[in-house]
Amino acid sequence: MLKGKTAVITGASRGIGRGIAVCFAKQEADLILNATREEHLKECMEEVRSYGGRVLAVAGDMSDPHTSERIVQCAAEQYGKLDIVVNNAGINRDGLFHKMADKQWQEVLDVNLNGTFYLMRSAAQEMRKQKSGRIINISSASWQGNFGQANYAASKAAVIALTKTAARELGIFHVTCNAICPGLIETDMTAPIPTAIRQNMLDKIWLGHSGQPEDIGNAAVFLASDLAAYITGEVLSVGGGLIL
Ligand code: NAP
Repeated sequence: MLKGKTAVITGASRGIGRGIAVCFAKQEADLILNATREEHLKECMEEVRSYGGRVLAVAGDMSDPHTSERIVQCAAEQYGKLDIVVNNAGINRDGLFHKMADKQWQEVLDVNLNGTFYLMRSAAQEMRKQKSGRIINISSASWQGNFGQANYAASKAAVIALTKTAARELGIFHVTCNAICPGLIETDMTAPIPTAIRQNMLDKIWLGHSGQPEDIGNAAVFLASDLAAYITGEVLSVGGGLIL
């Protein structure tokens, strides 16, 4: 479904980003993978290579705008185009908002929101010239607000606003921009959730179980593929019915 397409995935060394990378590789996309730690990216690159596609790494912190510039430059120089961008890199620093330190607030906004904005801005310049492209932003079921996640929820709600704005501004250039809201997906981010809170979330999931990174990867393949050519500005929940 993605043969001949060039895709960037941020935060691709572990968890959902790695799941998306593997799903894209199975669909024969050529990839550029990002994460801050290069050694972890290497493992993912080996797995992706086993499906036969081309894969490159651009390590770096997405909260630094230069990382986005390096990624887009790499796509232009090595692949000659940039078809798909998946803004997946994200962090949480949970706590009650009335006790939240400035740093705790700022770090989450810097990665989740600013990082997404920087790569969208750099990629849009190429995609506008190409008159084609797909931007997929990973938001969260928490975008509607979540206890102990003021910083994270605010960043993820803002990602949806950014997605819907970009869809309006880029539509004329045949560039689509959509968001995916994962529910409870088994990754390093969700492993530390206390048992009682996890059970409370599971009780609200109509399919009765948590998801795997590939569940998000499959949704991203669809949004990146020709099948989703007429879908833009949408928010796709992938959470087994967590938000209905
Ligand atoms: P994860 O297991 O903690 O993985 C995060 C990935 O992002 C890693 O590859 C990490 O690699 C990378 N990363 C972290 N900070 C970065 C930065 N500043 N610049 C570049 N890469 C960075 O998290 P996950 O659960 O897969 O979550 C992925 C995305 O899905 C996030 O945006 C998260 O908010 C969202 N999400 C997850 C869930 C869930 O249930 N898991 C639910 C809703 C939304 P390094 O550590 O090497 O940088």
